[in-house]
Amino acid sequence: MSDINFYKPTTIKEAVDLLQNQNYLAIAGGTDLVVKIRNGLFPGIRALVDLGALPLKTIKQENGKLIIGSGCTMSQVISDPLVKEYFPVLTKAASTVGAMQIKNAATIGGNIANASPAGDTIPALYSLEAVVIITGSKGQRQVPIDKFFTGPGKSVLQTGEIIEAFSIPLRKTSGSFLKLGERRAHAISKINMAVSTWNDGKNHFRVAMGSVAPTVLRCEKAEAVLEGASLPLTEEILEQAAEIAMSTASPISDIRSTGSYRKRMAGVLAKRALKTL
Ligand SMILES: Cc1cc2nc3c(=O)[nH]c(=O)nc-3n(C[C@H](O)[C@H](O)[C@H](O)COP(=O)(O)OP(=O)(O)OC[C@H]3O[C@@H](n4cnc5c(N)ncnc54)[C@H](O)[C@@H]3O)c2cc1C
Repeated sequence: MSDINFYKPTTIKEAVDLLQNQNYLAIAGGTDLVVKIRNGLFPGIRALVDLGALPLKTIKQENGKLIIGSGCTMSQVISDPLVKEYFPVLTKAASTVGAMQIKNAATIGGNIANASPAGDTIPALYSLEAVVIITGSKGQRQVPIDKFFTGPGKSVLQTGEIIEAFSIPLRKTSGSFLKLGERRAHAISKINMAVSTWNDGKNHFRVAMGSVAPTVLRCEKAEAVLEGASLPLTEEILEQAAEIAMSTASPISDIRSTGSYRKRMAGVLAKRALKTL
């Protein structure tokens, strides 16, 4: 990596201007990117644009939303009292990302921009109906998280654009995040599952799962079965939702797991996660 230049802009405009160059890449915590560069995945890269000095590290309330800066680390997300109080599913998902060293460096923006179908905060943000706030040279645009990903490692982000923040409707939710990895801790997900529920006169449910398709999937058919159901959920509804989750999953086999195991576990995890609500 010695022939790669390094820039550390202090304004978003400066960062976006630098990133207009096709051969420059944004870097946040570097926990994904440095590994990929070392593995030769970006041979044409001429410079890294470090987002670490930009004002992207706050979590604040604004107009009925919680705005989470893309530069917030997993440790910051985990310890934030508002995230804990309103979005327990996100606290739980961030808690499963790597060991302490990774949590202290890895950002939520990097987890999303990396666009891995196994990224742990992705299903959590799906279940909270988060919106991705993107900034580029033409200004800002907002994309619902379930429209952000276009394939494994791919998203709607264009050259020169960065994720500035995530905007989440500020409502009290209950949530659960479960993940299966090779080990109980510090492992990339073979499959992960996030469920959230909130009440605005009736109960609403969101179910999303990762590593079971080219992008994280929202399981809308299961949500329809759950809509309005009271808690705790009955065994019959749990079974129905689990069955739907299993049939919705269309996973591949890879080095981490077989497709058939992942499909079966989609049902098991959906049931377990919903049961804890
Ligand atoms: C040992 C180890 C264990 C891990 N365990 C887990 C795990 O359990 N769960 C999990 O989900 N992940 C895991 N990861 C992957 C990684 O830590 C996360 O995906 C992390 O959140 C990436 O964030 P980062 O800030 O390090 O991103 P970086 O590596 O800096 O960047 C990742 C990608 O996102 C782009 N990018 C970063 N920030 C922005 C932004 N604001 N706007 C636009 N593009 C941006 C970069 O250009 C790059 O393409 C692990 C990695 C390692 C090395």
